[in-house]
Amino acid sequence: MGILKVGIAGAGIVGLTSALELQNILPSADITVIANEFNQDTTSDGAAGLFRPGTSFCGPSIDITRKWIEDAYRHYSDLIPERCGIKEVGGYIFSSISQSNVQNHYLEKLVPVYRPATRSELKLCPGDWKYGAYFSTLLIECRQFLPWAVSRFKKGGGKVEKGNISSFDDLFQTYDVVFNCTGLGAKLLCNDYKLVPIRGQVLKVSAPWLNNFFYGDFDTYIIPGFNGVATLGGCRQFDSFSTDINHYDRAAILERCHSLVPRLKNAPITREWVGLRPHRDPVRVEIEVKGKNKIVHNYGHGGYGVTAAAGTSKHAVRLLIQSLSSSSASCKL
Ligand SMILES: Cc1cc2nc3c(=O)[nH]c(=O)nc-3n(C[C@H](O)[C@H](O)[C@H](O)COP(=O)(O)OP(=O)(O)OC[C@H]3O[C@@H](n4cnc5c(N)ncnc54)[C@H](O)[C@@H]3O)c2cc1C
Repeated sequence: MGILKVGIAGAGIVGLTSALELQNILPSADITVIANEFNQDTTSDGAAGLFRPGTSFCGPSIDITRKWIEDAYRHYSDLIPERCGIKEVGGYIFSSISQSNVQNHYLEKLVPVYRPATRSELKLCPGDWKYGAYFSTLLIECRQFLPWAVSRFKKGGGKVEKGNISSFDDLFQTYDVVFNCTGLGAKLLCNDYKLVPIRGQVLKVSAPWLNNFFYGDFDTYIIPGFNGVATLGGCRQFDSFSTDINHYDRAAILERCHSLVPRLKNAPITREWVGLRPHRDPVRVEIEVKGKNKIVHNYGHGGYGVTAAAGTSKHAVRLLIQSLSSSSASCKL
């Protein structure tokens, strides 16, 4: 009988929510997070962090996906008093094209408010907006949340190591179980052709006066975060691996955001950022048994990883617990 040794590969939002969930459910396990990038160097860091799953976001089934979203929403809501970069926000989504663009079957029954925009609200922003909705949700700012999660994990006895992983077999020299939370890194590590980057570019601007988020057509979004910084976006470029700032994308984002909220023309730009969303259809949350070892995959969240991470991580840990209790593995739980 030995203590279960678990390596969590990846220190983005998915790795850290997995690490904390596992520590909570299996306090006797010896858990180490291993990653080559932490905090500000991860994809999670640059995301605006609005809790808003895309309507096409999908796991293995609609019921499982809905449970991920509901579990994640409750989990993040419960963390608000911890002051770890999570707050409630409200805002508008407008479209001149289709009513379906302003609906969200995941959020409509989950968040406290999701209602059609009134006639006067449709005129809040310049543009010929025919359809609109107002809703409240959460904002999870990874710039605060990731360092908080690392510190909480360490306080709970977890270990953190910086290093490059070239194969999971190497990790099995040390760990009984590996959680694969490597985001786009899983493309090489698992030879997973279904995992593709969706490139996104955003600008961070100083706009302390902005209280609501705004979405418009053509992937236009303006999301106020903490400390008066707002994220302006965006674009979704399928299968593009470029992490360079593109000046055409910048111009298009600024033009669309300025036309939605003209006061932003005077907002100083504080940062520009490109991130590669790890997109996989479906998101992969499953357990793979390799001899006496197990890999728990938890990756491929695309543009909705901040939203869904806390839910998929609960699912991933549940899969491990079920597998441990049904196997005859001689691990002390
Ligand atoms: C522009 C943009 C805006 C976004 N906005 C939102 C939003 O508002 N809401 C939302 O829910 N989502 C948003 N997202 C999506 C979100 O950022 C991602 O889904 C999420 O960050 C994925 O998290 P992750 O932990 O899987 O990956 P990552 O944050 O990329 O973390 C992966 C980790 O694995 C490690 N790793 C990978 N390979 C290896 C290796 N070989 N060896 C060692 N370590 C390795 C990395 O170092 C890192 O620590 C946005 C994304 C972009 C690009």
